[in-house]
Amino acid sequence: MANKTSITVAHGDGIGPEIMAATLHILQQAGAELDIETIEIGEKVYLAGINTGIAGSAWDSLRRTKVFLKAPITTPQGGGYKSLNVTVRKTLGLYANVRPCVSYHPFVETKHPVMDVVIVRENEEDVYGGIEHRQTDQVYQCLKLITRPGCEKIVRYAFEYARRNNRRKVTCFTKDNIMKLTDGLFHKVFDEIAPEYSDIENEHWIVDIGAAKLADTPEAFDVVVMPNLYGDILSDIAAQIAGSVGLAGSANIGESVSMFEAIHGSAPRRAGQNLANPTGLLLGSIMMLVHIGQTDIAERVHNAWLRTIEEGVHTYDIYSEGVSKEKVGTREFAEAVVKRLGHKPETLKAVAYKAVADDAAINKPYVYSHPKAVKETVGIDVFLHWTEGTANQLGEAIKRLEGDGVRLEMISNRGAKVWPDGHDETFCTDHWHCRFMAEAKGGTITHAQIISLLKRVADAGFDFIKTEHLCNFDGKAFYAFAQEQ
Ligand code: NAD
Repeated sequence: MANKTSITVAHGDGIGPEIMAATLHILQQAGAELDIETIEIGEKVYLAGINTGIAGSAWDSLRRTKVFLKAPITTPQGGGYKSLNVTVRKTLGLYANVRPCVSYHPFVETKHPVMDVVIVRENEEDVYGGIEHRQTDQVYQCLKLITRPGCEKIVRYAFEYARRNNRRKVTCFTKDNIMKLTDGLFHKVFDEIAPEYSDIENEHWIVDIGAAKLADTPEAFDVVVMPNLYGDILSDIAAQIAGSVGLAGSANIGESVSMFEAIHGSAPRRAGQNLANPTGLLLGSIMMLVHIGQTDIAERVHNAWLRTIEEGVHTYDIYSEGVSKEKVGTREFAEAVVKRLGHKPETLKAVAYKAVADDAAINKPYVYSHPKAVKETVGIDVFLHWTEGTANQLGEAIKRLEGDGVRLEMISNRGAKVWPDGHDETFCTDHWHCRFMAEAKGGTITHAQIISLLKRVADAGFDFIKTEHLCNFDGKAFYAFAQEQ
């Protein structure tokens, strides 16, 4: 091997230092060419008063090496501490979270002997923007943002990953029967990009029934790509039903920097006892070796690990009487893997990683190329905090504020139309959604008309708490209609 690759390593908290030591020992013994820079993250940094858990100087190392092998950290209890993972992902644009969930039957107990699923989770958007507001006494809101660049990047990544790893199918999960615009965009982008990969099968499932099928028949799936929240939940479920969350590693891929880790946390109760299973981090580090082009070492380590598992050398978490042969600690497990370097599994399927010359092919810098649409504002939704009476009374009062080219079209409460012609049974909160449209059919409204409308609303004594513009793009409405509207 030519030059060493610089990587940044954080030893983390709890069981972190032990599983990192075990992982690095195996990598070194396998011949990985790594030049390691160590940074401090996590509990100590939080408690030193840095509420992100990562100091300024650590970012310099990450920007320099662009490869981060991270042990789990402990987020201290109590408010004010921001999730380090979310901070690192967002700051460094780690848009793809890749989690292989594989069962190792009959050596690790699982209800699903045939399972080899890779969840590709969008990692930056959706409700994870954390843009939340309390709007009235009764109503709280979280903003779900789905972007075309975000969808294009993650969907393309899923197909590129599938192609590179000889996978046969990419499945998309969304809930676009309900969220027609946000999840609808994710699904639409999937349908646009899939035909570019005619060698790979594609399919879409509504996430609820898709998740049920995944939990019941994981062998029906291969690579599954989905928005952030569904991916967060389903990747833990998939890892657990494969055998244990303790056995899964993950890659967080960005255009420039990438981070590799175990999916489990710092398990503080197990810390310092030489008990923890280093597998999650080790499998994360194998993904790192593939990413930096040391595929031969990745293969060597992975196959030795499979052989170790198959020979029944197990840490406590996967040890099972009758199946396992030897219960070992973290260090002994690492030694057992080192001893099997150069060996392949006999029952489990050996892995083979293709040497890939250009990682850029899977991870090209994103260029937005979608044509700009013609945008027209055709109406405005005004949300009120109001408790003075019934929907009909509100409708009558708000109707009086029409004029200046703007008419009231309807009022809804939690998305159900309550005026005109509402139903007495509809439960109403203190959060009312009044939809105003341009008076002229097919007309548009200006910012000046909106400002004058809001002035009339305020002058009439209504507490407006937010507005949303209703826009047509290239002549098509891109706003949801209330139920029954
Ligand atoms: P956890 O994943 O740390 O542990 C849950 C249980 O799983 C442990 O009690 C242990 O029995 C078992 N376990 C986990 N990893 C294991 C391993 N490698 N070997 C053997 N057994 C293992 O989850 P938790 O207890 O909810 O969280 C503990 C801390 O970890 C919290 O501070 C949390 O914020 C943090 N956390 C960090 C990350 C991360 O850094 N990526 C992820 C999740 C949780």
